Formats: sequence, C-alpha cells, structure tokens
Amino acid sequence: MAKRMLSEFESYDLLKQYGVPVPEHAIVKTPAEAGKVAEKIGFPVVMKIHSPQIVHKSDAGGVIVSISTKQAAEEAFNRIVANAKAYNPEAEIKGVIVEQQAAPGLELIIGGKTDPAFGKVLTFGMGGTLVELMKDVTLRILPVSEEAIRQMVREIHGYPMIQGYRGAKPRDEETLVKVMWAINCFFAENTNVVEFDINPVRLYESGACIVDARIFVD
Ligand code: ADP
Ligand code: MG
Repeated sequence: MAKRMLSEFESYDLLKQYGVPVPEHAIVKTPAEAGKVAEKIGFPVVMKIHSPQIVHKSDAGGVIVSISTKQAAEEAFNRIVANAKAYNPEAEIKGVIVEQQAAPGLELIIGGKTDPAFGKVLTFGMGGTLVELMKDVTLRILPVSEEAIRQMVREIHGYPMIQGYRGAKPRDEETLVKVMWAINCFFAENTNVVEFDINPVRLYESGACIVDARIFVD
C-alpha cells in the first residue's frame, strides 16, 4: 500500500496525545485570522504552509520565523501562500499554521522506521546540519524499555553536549528520556505508522519542545 504523510498539524495532534511537547498551534485560512491567532498565541510566532503536496516547507518559501506583530502575521500569510503557489501551482493549499516560536535549544533527532527483517526500529541522534552529516545516530529494535532509551541517550558521541560541555549547563536528560519513551509508545501502539522523523527536538536546561514532525502511515 502507498505511504501517506500526515500533515504537521495532524502529526502534532497525534504526538501531543502521548505527552510529547509540541508548540501551541492553529490552522488559519485568511490573513485576518492569522493576525488574530498570532496575537492569541503570543509573539513571536512562526508561520508555515499547510499543504499535503509540500513536504519540505522551507524549500517552498513556506516557513517564516520571528513574526512579531499582528500586521507582520497578516503579511506573512499572503507571502507564504504566494510562495507556495509559485513553487507548486498544483499544490492544494489547506491554510497556514501559526505556531508558538520555540526558544533555541540543543537540537536532536528522534525517528522511526520499519526494517523488512527486524520490524520497527527507534532511532536517536544529534541534530543540526553539521552533525546530521556525521550521522551521530543510535538505534534499537522495538520493543524498547525505558532503560534502553536511557542507554541510547548516553551512547551517542554528542552526549557531552547534553551533559553540559565546557562549562555549559546540563540539559534536561530526564525530560529527553520521557519524550523518547512517549514517542516509543506512540510508534509501538500505532501499527499503521511505518516511518517518522521528528527533527528537530529542542532540548533545554529545563524541558523540551519539538518544532517539526513528519509521520508516514500505511
Ligand atoms: P521544513 O518542512 O522545511 O523542514 P520546518 O517545520 O522544519 O520546515 O521549519 C524549518 C525550520 O524553522 C526548523 O528547522 C526550525 O529551525 C524553524 N522552526 C520551525 N518551527 C519552529 C517553531 N515553532 N519554533 C522555532 N523555530 C521553528
Ligand atoms: Mg524540518
């Protein structure tokens, strides 16, 4: 059967049910609505294209960050829709997502895939373009215990970045383990989920937040 990708909106809502921290967000259909919702969420906000045909939103000019006034939110709506239409005239534009802008943090990646031989596999690694190139990633075949998740966190080369490298304050490892556990439960319980990629997860001194998610279902 063909794989279908859930929208960021659907992905957020599904992950939120498992206790994964997602930014506050809403879909809007008009510039005026964008302004109103942005004000309600609180500035700054990020706005992104919501279209089933646009997988890599930034490539389509479909992501604008650091929007800090109502007027800027209204303008961003028009710009995002125009960019998306120029990028793919066939794309069905379902609206624009307005979301709370998460603070910068240590960027990590949590993913899942289905191996033809081993079945569901949970992956974890450092995020950020440079480290992604170096593939600092570890994986486990499901079922995964909380203890195994703890080990995954500690065995990547980038672990010192989580512990607090060169005088930096340590990051919230407990929350990271909880988020990975929640994501593991989500993957194990949703048998139709074949693959997903949460990139990035931002980890703070206290807490964490995901700012993008792609989930593929059968
Ligand atoms: P793409 O489909 O291009 O991967 P993303 O949703 O990942 O689009 O957005 C691109 C980038 O914009 C992210 O990698 C992140 O750096 C930034 N970003 C997106 N959403 C947020 C957010 N809610 N808070 C802070 N930064 C964000
Ligand atoms: Mg992304």
